[in-house]
Amino acid sequence: EDGGPDSKATTLVMNSPSRTDIRWSDTTSYGPKKKLQAWCPLPNGDWALGKILTTSGLESIIAIDEKVVKLLTESLLPANPEILDGVDDLMQLSYLHEPSVLFNLQYRYSQDMIYTKAGPVLVAINPFKEVPLYGNDYIEAYKRKAIDGPHVYAIADIAIREMIRDEVNQSIIISGESGAGKTETAKIAMQYLAALGGGSGIEYEILQTNPILEAFGNAKTLRNDNSSRFSRVVQCTEGERSYHIFYQLCAGAPHCLKGFYNVTKLLGCGTGELKLALSTRKMKVGNDNIVQKLTLSQATDTRDALAKSIYACLFEWLVEQINKSLEAGKRRTGRSISILDIYGFESFDEYIQDGIDWAKVDFEDNQDCLNLFEKKPLGLLSLLDEESTFPNGSDLTFANKLKQHLNSNSCFRGERGKVFCVCHYAGEVMYDTSGFLEKNRDLLHMDSILLLSSCTCRLPQIFASKILSQSDKVMVNQYRSSVADSQKLSVATKFKGQLFQLMHRLENTTPHFIRCIKPNNLQLPGNYEQGLVLQQLRCCGVLEVVRISRSGYPTRMSHQKFAKRYGFLLLESVASQDPLSVSVAILHQFNILPEMYQVGYTKLFFRAGQRQMKCRIAKKN
Ligand code: ATP
Ligand code: MG
Repeated sequence: EDGGPDSKATTLVMNSPSRTDIRWSDTTSYGPKKKLQAWCPLPNGDWALGKILTTSGLESIIAIDEKVVKLLTESLLPANPEILDGVDDLMQLSYLHEPSVLFNLQYRYSQDMIYTKAGPVLVAINPFKEVPLYGNDYIEAYKRKAIDGPHVYAIADIAIREMIRDEVNQSIIISGESGAGKTETAKIAMQYLAALGGGSGIEYEILQTNPILEAFGNAKTLRNDNSSRFSRVVQCTEGERSYHIFYQLCAGAPHCLKGFYNVTKLLGCGTGELKLALSTRKMKVGNDNIVQKLTLSQATDTRDALAKSIYACLFEWLVEQINKSLEAGKRRTGRSISILDIYGFESFDEYIQDGIDWAKVDFEDNQDCLNLFEKKPLGLLSLLDEESTFPNGSDLTFANKLKQHLNSNSCFRGERGKVFCVCHYAGEVMYDTSGFLEKNRDLLHMDSILLLSSCTCRLPQIFASKILSQSDKVMVNQYRSSVADSQKLSVATKFKGQLFQLMHRLENTTPHFIRCIKPNNLQLPGNYEQGLVLQQLRCCGVLEVVRISRSGYPTRMSHQKFAKRYGFLLLESVASQDPLSVSVAILHQFNILPEMYQVGYTKLFFRAGQRQMKCRIAKKN
């Protein structure tokens, strides 16, 4: 008996995922010994399997392949017995640490076993080649339960069974970096659901709409030839392209399309009106209407904003048309499975532009970080919106305000000039506020919207009313207070509104998680870069999921249920009303010891039984 590999694991759970200083003694009670296999850190950051030849307290001599090296004993980690090589659930690993997880995934990947369970999460590593794991035979086998290995089909199967059994909507939440395989995975899940529908149901029809949606929603980027993107209508980086549809249209288009981006004819408006809308701005000053001439760069921005907005409206309109045609004549059961394939972040640059990575807000008590962004009136987003409306506001004044108001938040650190740091769950990110205000202002002006509504073609008219009604819709959704100019919402506010709607929808489902991993940046098969994989595993806390799953927290309750049951006891209102934040606030208010619980994606995990927990809250009250 060595006390079991789990004996100390729980003490690691709450630590930052970027820590790598897990020690041998954290995973087992005996120390490194002669003849044992050990994981050894290499200078390039990778891990290699070695055999301990001799060991003293401080240093060990290790054989790695043909080489013999001397390493600090404390840098070694115990290797699992060979019998555990390639287990299909990471929960089965005796020694659970980064190199053992990395190796297990690599072992399976090398044999085209791209799916592995990490407790409740399915890890999918992009094979960048065809793998013989799909099609009717496999679908049949999963349906009949003849196979039970980890697979997207298995997840889809559980989702459909739970939907029927519990009469609860389900969701399959697919996350991962750009190029990790989310869209492919979503299609594979749909394939399964379509097959269960007998090949003629609505699922099958949804699958058939994919080429249209991908043509309008996907583009080639440096990281992914078929990347799900947004807002790349007016610019793209060298080596990248705009949405597929433009090239497809041009390839098959008659001459008339060549004299484009000829827009007045297509919109159905006069040249003069378009010119005016793009080069001037009508404003009301007191009781007077005045017309201001725009500078070249303002006019360019106005044009770009109009183009982006027309494209966004077109996409949304397409989705509506597709939905309408799918609904026609279909009987509805009232239950659904949502598949979430969100665009993957490309780099920290884009990460900053896009806002917060919601997928990373998990496990740890992230309340400080949430407050940092969301608190009103002095959270990062509110301050950004406020500064964006000040005529003299600049990126520097914005950065200074952040430092002035947020310095007391433990997740914030002001740096020189326009720079500040945020401690996210996944690690520290440095932000440069250059361009923040510009990007946050919605540059689509009323003049452009009015132009659209005066067009003789039907689509621009529809778009104009869509844009106007969207502003209303989001505003009634609790964000009214942060909107200074009632006609326009900032980009950050719109984005937050969309996230809020998404979260709201997902909160009412039983979620199933698939985490896609990109094994290399070259989009090549058979190439597994340890460092790249490790970074992705850390960001989404795969090890933590597994540790929590097996570390003996017998009681689980969804945030939704917990918040509903105990939320009314809260003495202070919480900045964010989502169930996770409410749950955490309740735990804090009643001083529940941190070691008594873990905060998961969707559930709270308790050490003690639920009854004790209830008693404690009841007593305190
Ligand atoms: P983005 O965030 O940029 O949209 P993504 O995560 O949706 O990226 P995908 O477009 O799904 O990435 O995958 C990128 C490419 O990887 C695919 O075009 C395909 O070539 C390959 N790929 C992904 N998953 C698989 C799979 N299961 N089998 C074979 N190839 C795959
Ligand atoms: Mg995609």
